[in-house]
Amino acid sequence: REFMCEHCLFISNQGIPMTLMIGNNSVVSIHYTLKNEAGDVIDSSEDNQPLVYLHSSKNLIPGLESELHGKSSGASFSTVIPPQQAYGEVRTDLIKEISKDLFQGVESVEAGMTFLAHGEDGAEQQVRVTAVSGDEVTVDANHPMAGMTLHFEVEIVDVREGTEQEIEHGHVHQPGADH
Ligand code: ZN
Repeated sequence: REFMCEHCLFISNQGIPMTLMIGNNSVVSIHYTLKNEAGDVIDSSEDNQPLVYLHSSKNLIPGLESELHGKSSGASFSTVIPPQQAYGEVRTDLIKEISKDLFQGVESVEAGMTFLAHGEDGAEQQVRVTAVSGDEVTVDANHPMAGMTLHFEVEIVDVREGTEQEIEHGHVHQPGADH
């Protein structure tokens, strides 16, 4: 077999399809499965449409974005992402004990319930009840995946360039729609 450098072969072979690499403002479709350290599936796109996101607009956790950067359609990979590159460490200052009286209109406050807390400045914060003891309720405003090391299996299904409007808005639009 005659020697031919890869570069020459690539240039001479006009039928080779070109695949777009994931870069700033790419619109990327991925299938993914997310597992925790124990191997339990926490989330997966497998039975749904792929997840479609605008790259480099902070729509994904940083660790996953950096793994996807520079890859192209058809690639599959596994990656382990530490909390610092995912949803952060658990912050103890976001865990508070509050009085049951603050839960207006709720008959029975129980662990596992999620509430929207309204701050004085109008800000809203999602909190989970983690324990109830008498009139004391422990609420946790950390992201449910804070402190977790995430195990991802990812398959890149499609890569296209974001439209001007998508880039301006910082998110993906459905085909034929403004939003
Ligand atoms: Zn928009």
